[in-house]
Amino acid sequence: MNASAYDFTATGQPRLQGKRALITGAGSGIGSAIAELFAREGADLVLLDLTAAPAKAVGERLMETTGRRVMAVGADVSSSTQVDAAFAEALDAFGGLDILINCAGVNVFGDPLQTSEQDWRRCLDTNLTGAWHCIRAALPSMLAASYGHIVNIASVHGHKIIPGAFPYPVAKHGLIGLTRSLGIEYAARGIRVNSISPGLIMTPAAERYFQSCPDPEAERRHQAELLPCKRIGRPEEVAYAALFLAGDEARFINATDVLIDGGRSQIYHD
Ligand code: NAP
Repeated sequence: MNASAYDFTATGQPRLQGKRALITGAGSGIGSAIAELFAREGADLVLLDLTAAPAKAVGERLMETTGRRVMAVGADVSSSTQVDAAFAEALDAFGGLDILINCAGVNVFGDPLQTSEQDWRRCLDTNLTGAWHCIRAALPSMLAASYGHIVNIASVHGHKIIPGAFPYPVAKHGLIGLTRSLGIEYAARGIRVNSISPGLIMTPAAERYFQSCPDPEAERRHQAELLPCKRIGRPEEVAYAALFLAGDEARFINATDVLIDGGRSQIYHD
């Protein structure tokens, strides 16, 4: 049989072997699941979180279990000064970055007219401006290498509106806009920018939401029942999509968004 006409170069190899990835929000939930999967697939990691301690704890476990190089940095993504300092430290230590995952985020849900200026800013500054700060800090070295894969963790709230969840959907719509805009802007120079929009995923943030409800177990059952597959998603199910989008297998996928919500957002009426 003739040699394959297809270029399946990744087959049989760890899928991120030798890649250097920086993941924000890596100390918890979806970010820590992405960190674990990426390390298992051969990537060296910079784990960024609001404070270095949770990222350091994740990093120490991954270094022990996977043998990869992992460094933890503390920075508030809403501060461009802190982001620039953290990326300078990471670039100095790793010599460059191949992958950036913007996962740091906060839930700010409320009634529009009850939303304080402070909550509006906290929501937009973390969920949208924070991703831009990180992309802006990573781009010069990625452009110099003509290589970089960026994945922003948006939300199903970036596609559909749940009343009373303001202003979180404003920020997540913006993050999908940022993804499309920068994906096109730098496509010819070796950079891809995509986003993932998870539906409800069982993480510490989701657990905090359930615990804030008068009957957490009833709310958990209600949320699962709303999903066509009748169960809430898991962080590793988002991590597998991030692995695909951040790797060379997805090299023709750019400036787009992948919904991971068990199909819920396709339902017209619940
Ligand atoms: P999580 O468990 O709370 O993890 C978020 C991480 O981001 C935490 O470690 C948090 O640190 C960190 N973080 C928050 N603000 C930050 C800041 N200003 N600078 C740096 N780090 C910051 O949340 P998650 O559920 O895994 O969510 C991860 C991402 O997925 C978020 O962008 C979220 O909007 C998105 N998402 C989640 C769901 C879901 O159902 N879970 C659905 C759709 C989208 P602290 O713990 O110290 O605050």
